[in-house]
Amino acid sequence: MFDTLWDVVIVGAGPAGLASAIYTGRSNLKTLVLDAMFPGGQLLVTEMIENYPGFPEPMAGFELSDRMKKQAENFGAVIKSGYSVNKVDIDGDIFILKLESGGEVKARTVIWAAGSTPRKLGVPGEAEFLGRGVSYCAVCDGALFKGRDVAVVGGGDSALEEALFLTKFANKVYLIHRRDKFRAVPIVQERVKANEKIKPVLNKVVESINGDQFVESLTLKDTVTGEKSEQKVDGIFIFIGSEPNTAPIAHLVELDDRGYILTDDEMKTATPGLFAAGDTRKKPLKQVITAAADGAVAAMSASRYLEERK
Ligand code: NAP
Repeated sequence: MFDTLWDVVIVGAGPAGLASAIYTGRSNLKTLVLDAMFPGGQLLVTEMIENYPGFPEPMAGFELSDRMKKQAENFGAVIKSGYSVNKVDIDGDIFILKLESGGEVKARTVIWAAGSTPRKLGVPGEAEFLGRGVSYCAVCDGALFKGRDVAVVGGGDSALEEALFLTKFANKVYLIHRRDKFRAVPIVQERVKANEKIKPVLNKVVESINGDQFVESLTLKDTVTGEKSEQKVDGIFIFIGSEPNTAPIAHLVELDDRGYILTDDEMKTATPGLFAAGDTRKKPLKQVITAAADGAVAAMSASRYLEERK
């Protein structure tokens, strides 16, 4: 991996990165995919995917990602887990990707598909109780809360879908949202409304997460009246959106005011040869299907870029 000049290095092995790898591999480009963790990205923390065309029966997130990974490998892509990219530099027309673990990888083109990281509430107790009642992944930690009471924070698709998932284990799920209306799609809102285990707690924000060894309660503040209250829970799952992972390439791209990478329709960034795909770029709809579509477009743009320089 270190001795090769790769035609394409794809950073991030979520649906955007894996779709890119399927396309660049199929175009016979020497393709390396690096992922800081395991291939799958957000798919790994999603229990079921029910809106990806072609799968009328919902498919487990890990299975869909495993299929994408195998498909990319079938076309010759090399996929490496556990490699985090710290910085991307340019030397002439070659990209140098500096790895956190030490060492460098060289590439003629880069597709940045590094996704995003869960946004933090930034309240007392959040960092302290991480792994001891505070979680950002219901699929990973939900089973630990069998028969217990938990809170979910957020009003988007993630919060409501994960609240529904948690009802498989939890006794009660308090769905805490800062406004009086959820922003999740109506079908998910209806499922939440119909689920007796979920209790919406509206117009409330979490002021602190309290406990001794483990989470025991939340201090809530009413966003209308300012009134404070205490809610006993054994765990809190936070789904309030995410921040794009762009720091290693921030000096090479243009970002919008929320930190998302600006690209054109061909996934080109401000630096020739550097493309962006998936949740790290500014786009109107963040879904598996749009990530995969970005990946395909970025791959074809990288292929065209290399062809023009032959
Ligand atoms: P999101 O749609 O950005 O929703 C974030 C939620 O957290 C909002 O309800 C927001 O409140 C709330 N929030 C933000 N900051 C907060 C804070 N500091 N304190 C309290 N609440 C806060 O994020 P998401 O649910 O992770 O979804 C991200 C994208 O992925 C969306 O485009 C979504 O449609 C998509 N997605 C799709 C699926 C699916 O299709 N099955 C599943 C999951 C996610 P406000 O409403 O007041 O802004």
